[in-house]
Amino acid sequence: MSTTDKFVGDLARIVGQKNCVTDEQALEPHVTEWRNVLHGKALVMVSPGTTGEVADIVRLCSSAGVAVVPQGGNTGLCGGAIPDESGRQLILSLSRLNRIRSIDADDFSMVAEAGCVLATLQQAARAVDRYFPLSLSAEGSCQIGGNLATNAGGINVIRYGTARQQVLGLEVVLADGSIIDGLRSLHKDTAGYDVKQLFIGSEGTLGIITAATLRLYPDPGEMTTLLMTLPDCGSAVTLLAGMRAVLGDRIESFELISRYALELVERHIGGAALPCELAGDWFVLAEAAVAEDSIALGQFLEEAFEQGRISDAVIAKNIAEAETLWRVRHAISEAQKYEGPSIKHDISVPICRMREFLLRCADRLREQEPSAKPVIFGHVGDGNLHYNLTVPKDLFRDQNRVERVTATIYDLVAELGGSFSAEHGVGVTKRAHLERYRGGTEIELMRRLKRALDPQNLLNPGKVI
Ligand SMILES: Cc1cc2nc3c(=O)[nH]c(=O)nc-3n(C[C@H](O)[C@H](O)[C@H](O)COP(=O)(O)OP(=O)(O)OC[C@H]3O[C@@H](n4cnc5c(N)ncnc54)[C@H](O)[C@@H]3O)c2cc1C
Repeated sequence: MSTTDKFVGDLARIVGQKNCVTDEQALEPHVTEWRNVLHGKALVMVSPGTTGEVADIVRLCSSAGVAVVPQGGNTGLCGGAIPDESGRQLILSLSRLNRIRSIDADDFSMVAEAGCVLATLQQAARAVDRYFPLSLSAEGSCQIGGNLATNAGGINVIRYGTARQQVLGLEVVLADGSIIDGLRSLHKDTAGYDVKQLFIGSEGTLGIITAATLRLYPDPGEMTTLLMTLPDCGSAVTLLAGMRAVLGDRIESFELISRYALELVERHIGGAALPCELAGDWFVLAEAAVAEDSIALGQFLEEAFEQGRISDAVIAKNIAEAETLWRVRHAISEAQKYEGPSIKHDISVPICRMREFLLRCADRLREQEPSAKPVIFGHVGDGNLHYNLTVPKDLFRDQNRVERVTATIYDLVAELGGSFSAEHGVGVTKRAHLERYRGGTEIELMRRLKRALDPQNLLNPGKVI
């Protein structure tokens, strides 16, 4: 028996034969990422059903020197969940680790395993009259473990913060198979370093997240969804400031959408058309925890019209209309996939510099690559935009041109004090950028942490750093 056969046999003894997959066809969806741009090859994929099994697998991999690539819903956009092309790496799928271990409405917390699908957790919270605010377009398939590993953002960060802010406690399997049993639901805890924070956003390179204690919120109550037309892209920032001044922290989402992004949805996604005709090039889709006929909302809209921050506004009359507006917003990434090749950037700048970023970036790109069409949308209320470009095939195939476009955007972002990676993480696709834009002492400390926690470099090697 070869060493590989023995290794796979040992894995099967841990997770059961049917949860240990080596068949190439069955592995295909797990070695290809969401955009179908990156492909890898795996030795085997295992799906443990308990934290103990995860620990046993990691221990076995450690003694066999096999690298472990954790995989959640595989909706990540930086290739972090995909094995390399060697065919020597193991995919550790968290999908079977999908129980909600407990939910406590009085404590405003729940304990969920890493493989729970995000939408399932939102529903579970609603079932006990509570609210779990993390929300993103991939919520029907991404998993909480993946959300935490990438410190996911999404549409409600403006009010509730990113995935990191939703975590009270964490259970993690370390590279040597030992388990951090940190599923506390404490809101205050100053006992030493807050080690859970190391693993959130580490993209599976420091440990395997197996469960988390998550913060729940009161039901935010009546919501109003509105789509506003802006005179220009820069007005989004002053509009947000005006909305905050009147509605305070009741703004749940504040999303900028360009006309071209809407056109792509109309062209490619059946059943996701806007319920109204729109003039203008820039829109904000916002949601606030206020009643449609509230005095505050009326005051905000009146001021926004008077001061020329918006030229039109559509308020969703009922839940169905609100859902239609959100369906369009959530379909943009998918629509862009059907339009052709795209170069994606997920950047953040200080909110006060958003106008400058949008204007200067558009000027530079128009000059550099006039055939690239910006598909701009995203969480402008957090200073975060998906600054994507739909490009002709010849441009996409020319790596030098692609890199020059990306450098133009990232250099401007850096000049304005922003980040080249606001969401989605670093994975493989942005490693070089981490080196370039976060060099020095900060990245050296990241390397030291990686060496300390994973001395054999077996946890998702080649990702992040
Ligand atoms: C249409 C669409 C819209 C999106 N919108 C947003 C958005 O608004 N905001 C946002 O932040 N992201 C967004 N994303 C990106 C993606 O959905 C998020 O990064 C998500 O958090 C990934 O979760 P996942 O379960 O799919 O993780 P995967 O893709 O499976 O994995 C992502 C990374 O986390 C690691 N990982 C996964 N599970 C674990 C675990 N249990 N322990 C340790 N490491 C683990 C993987 O190794 C990999 O490095 C979007 C993606 C799509 C396709």
